[in-house]
Amino acid sequence: MPQRTIHYADDAMDRVAMRREDPAWIDDRLRAPTSRFVAVASGRHPFVRAETGARRPWFLAHDAIEGSLPGDPILLGVHEDIAYFAVDVTDAPPSLPDSVTLLGLREVITDLGHRDSSALAYASALVHWHRTHRFCGACGTPTMSTRGGHVRRCTDADCGREHFPRTDPAVITLVVDDDRCLLARRRNWAPGRRSTVAGFVEPGETLEHTVARETFEEVGVRVGKVTYRGSQPWPFPQSLMLGFRAAAETSDIAVDGDEIAQADWYTPERIEADTASGALILPPFDSISRRLVEDWLAERRQGLHAGPC
Ligand SMILES: [Zn+2]
Repeated sequence: MPQRTIHYADDAMDRVAMRREDPAWIDDRLRAPTSRFVAVASGRHPFVRAETGARRPWFLAHDAIEGSLPGDPILLGVHEDIAYFAVDVTDAPPSLPDSVTLLGLREVITDLGHRDSSALAYASALVHWHRTHRFCGACGTPTMSTRGGHVRRCTDADCGREHFPRTDPAVITLVVDDDRCLLARRRNWAPGRRSTVAGFVEPGETLEHTVARETFEEVGVRVGKVTYRGSQPWPFPQSLMLGFRAAAETSDIAVDGDEIAQADWYTPERIEADTASGALILPPFDSISRRLVEDWLAERRQGLHAGPC
């Protein structure tokens, strides 16, 4: 897969893992005037309107939000010597001045730079994890945030179990059959919207097994060769999408009627014609699903389709 920007993933952010064990350094950065605080409120974010009119999704320590920041900021990392923290303001919403609006990340993705959108996604995933792991899964005692917010520890002295942020792996697969690819519509989607096959990895499965199982369950197609195509964090709320291309071994489609309402084979020509007419809406531009489709289309255009996938 060509090296291109993966939305919601910024490898330029230094996660400074060693600093998570350094409370004095964290405290210093919490008070630094340049540090940025990415706030999360029930999956939305307070956006500050800057003097330039542009919106930015973070606060400085001296912004209007100062004094309203709840405890336990989460250390995200450092980018160009600027520390980033996530703060959960769901239960303690700051008094928002007129220059601040609450918006969802995907509502404003086209207005944000890669660094800011990735920081929001990272913050969102960690805040979600903290909110859903406030009690120890082993003994039910409240947990507390530690190590810069990257661990929650059970406060029961006899248990003391440590809990780590979790990410749920999910496969997302473009099934191809020579010069056709399979696109499917989920039941609750608009009539023209189509995407690739997707599903969560289950315990005891390899990724290849999940690809084959989900494809057969959702659209009734058997697949053979499976090729890894790249990954994308998908913090809505806590998934890691693992992209694959799979070669179909059968071509009759039988949708499950539950998750998937409709599916069909699309040649590049049909994709072009149907998107132009509005009959087909491809997956959103920020998704790995869209990339899987576009990569395949580009290869077909360039004649790079010697193998099954
Ligand atoms: Zn416990």
